[in-house]
Amino acid sequence: MEALRAVIDPELRRDIVELEMVRSIEFGDGGAVDVTVSLTTPGCPIRNHFETAVVNAVSALEGVERVNVGFDVLTDTEKGRLQQKLGRAALPEGALAEVGNVICVASGKGGVGKSTLTANLAAAFAAEGKRAGALDADVWGYSIPRMLGLGAQRPKVSAERKILPLEAHGVKVMSIGFFLEEDQAVVWRGPMLHKALQQFLEDVAWGELDYLIVDLPPGTGDVSMTLAQLLPQAKFVVCTTPQPAAQRVARRAAELALKFKLELAGVVENMAGFTTPGGERYPIFGEGGGQLLADELDVPLLGKVPLTMPLREHSDAGTPLVLADPDDPAAQAIRHVARGIIAATPVELPVMQAPSPAAAPQPVGMSLPMA
Ligand code: ADP
Repeated sequence: MEALRAVIDPELRRDIVELEMVRSIEFGDGGAVDVTVSLTTPGCPIRNHFETAVVNAVSALEGVERVNVGFDVLTDTEKGRLQQKLGRAALPEGALAEVGNVICVASGKGGVGKSTLTANLAAAFAAEGKRAGALDADVWGYSIPRMLGLGAQRPKVSAERKILPLEAHGVKVMSIGFFLEEDQAVVWRGPMLHKALQQFLEDVAWGELDYLIVDLPPGTGDVSMTLAQLLPQAKFVVCTTPQPAAQRVARRAAELALKFKLELAGVVENMAGFTTPGGERYPIFGEGGGQLLADELDVPLLGKVPLTMPLREHSDAGTPLVLADPDDPAAQAIRHVARGIIAATPVELPVMQAPSPAAAPQPVGMSLPMA
């Protein structure tokens, strides 16, 4: 029990012994120890963190050969006691109470234009008069700062000790890239990664937004799983190229959303053909993958974005094409996607919540353990 004091609940910021979350400790044969930890919710996104931390703490003890970690859920009475102990009216609410709609842009693999789509969609929402934010959660391949022209700037911290998002083209932006030297790689994972993502949601002063658009990393790794759990209100948009092979990979990203019971808003097919200035059309990446995926998932195909040189050029230059040249065929297609999402999502904001005592000043700043 003493050793388990080293296991901290990253959300409540206290150890699990103090929080009375250690349900049982049992000793088996041959130095085996079974520890059961009680969580506040069954889908607790930090399960892996607890598992690793408990194993580390207990296996360091003399005579322990094996550690098994099990989980159950606190009863309502126990949760009530925990709340009293924490001196708050309620356990932490879901993040982003002032955000109307969270849209996660996902893809099966990299290089299909997911970030380009995210950056331009955010700008398109702003151009439609919506309060828009972009969260770059593609932590290993962050490119939103560059695509929105926010090179070497660093966010500031408010008097309330919240991180202030940067702003570009009418969009509030947060990215891990703002905290790193140029092209520095992100090397951490597990609990630290979870903590960083959580800070992006809870310690960033997003304020009132109609749309927060989240650029997920490609695939279905830790970050996407964590965010899917931290953002139960999110809707997914899946980006794919027209190739059947890409569409099969993209399907897995859609399945992640379905696994966490998140709504799929639709599919966007990117790199859908190239038209020469003379009007000749080349389907460089094939045809039809987006429609196929949309049909398979039974969701709308929100748009087909063609390959155009200006889209690539403007992304590199940090000016969203939807603003710089809204009539470019790719820009038109992305604006069409944005309008489709707006039509399909209610934009009324949830009722503002009074600040809870839990919002007392806490140290901010990304705690980044980097090589
Ligand atoms: P991902 O986020 O899926 O890894 P990116 O958004 O970084 O992909 O896109 C990869 C590259 O392809 C970028 O250089 C981007 O500018 C370019 N690109 C994406 N979509 C298009 C398009 N429809 N037309 C031209 N270039 C595109």
